[in-house]
Amino acid sequence: MADNQMKIAVFSTKKYDTLYLQPALEANGHQVHFLQTRLDDETLALADGFTAICIFVNDSLTARGIEYLSKRGLKYVLLRCAGFNNVDLDAAEKFGVKVARVPAYSPYSVAEFAVGLMLMLNRNLHKAFNRVRAGNFSLEGLTGFDMRNRRIGIIGTGKIGLLTGKICRGFGSEVVCYDPYPNPEGAKEYGMSYVDLDSLIATCDIISLHCPLLPSTHHMINTETLSKMKDGVMLINTSRGGLIDTVALIKALKSGKVGQVGMDVYENESNMYFEDSSDSIMLDDVFSRLLTFHNVCITGHQAFLTREALENIAQETASNLEAFINGIEPKGIVKS
Ligand code: NAD
Repeated sequence: MADNQMKIAVFSTKKYDTLYLQPALEANGHQVHFLQTRLDDETLALADGFTAICIFVNDSLTARGIEYLSKRGLKYVLLRCAGFNNVDLDAAEKFGVKVARVPAYSPYSVAEFAVGLMLMLNRNLHKAFNRVRAGNFSLEGLTGFDMRNRRIGIIGTGKIGLLTGKICRGFGSEVVCYDPYPNPEGAKEYGMSYVDLDSLIATCDIISLHCPLLPSTHHMINTETLSKMKDGVMLINTSRGGLIDTVALIKALKSGKVGQVGMDVYENESNMYFEDSSDSIMLDDVFSRLLTFHNVCITGHQAFLTREALENIAQETASNLEAFINGIEPKGIVKS
């Protein structure tokens, strides 16, 4: 192999990853090994001798892992996602391992999905789908509301939040937003206006979360904030599960305070999502309780999953690697 060609191990591979990553990485002559295994301290040996590894959100690269693999030739960690909380960056710096991620691959994918959840819950599409298949053509209990003139609250006006608001404006909804670091021009362009968090929470018919999970945003939706919401509010979370105190949410669903919930993320999803566990017993009682509500739609962290997003992830991952090889700082560089 030439000096600029690498041996790359891709962890947690699914068919849809191979489809896009293989051509993108092999185009430059790299040797790519696809593994279904999740990377953690127990599976490190599988990456022995690889110059680069490509990992996803539930892989884990600890200080021990970095030290172990750097001594066996690892130079580059390619995260094929935006988050980087699963890599020990201090250890990476200490052992000279370079890390890059894909900060933005398709905000449209997530924004469109968030609005999809709103429509599904509002118009009871999840119930209608099952009813018609069972020969039940009754419309009882399927009444929704026009999105037009509804007040929708967007928490976090980054790439995805702004686009979600923009789509909602297309329905003729009134869109208000909150962000501690506002983007007044972006919001104005899309016809949204900033309000304070308390007012957003107290006045919106639909609240959609689009901010990162930080110590300051952990459980930002909790007993207190839920109690201030409009009766029957619809909550949408396509961001990170830890933004919502799920036990408090269940209480609010039981009392009817919260009318509908769409969630693509769940605070204890890491040992559960992305795998087929249909033959196993569900051990998470909180999740099990959530599944019992007819007005809760849960999806398994799939909002990003469009062809365009997968294509962009593959291309950005390949270009991060080429930049590293050519001694250039890649767009997706992550430092401690
Ligand atoms: P972004 O960085 O562009 O925007 C995040 C915004 O949140 C920023 O404007 C920031 O100022 C704001 N923010 C920070 N603290 C806040 C707070 N306390 N309250 C309100 N806003 C706050 O990020 P993005 O690309 O728009 O992603 C938004 C979220 O979507 C992230 O949590 C990301 O992890 C998640 N995401 C989910 C999926 C999925 O498949 N479900 C895919 C991609 C991203």
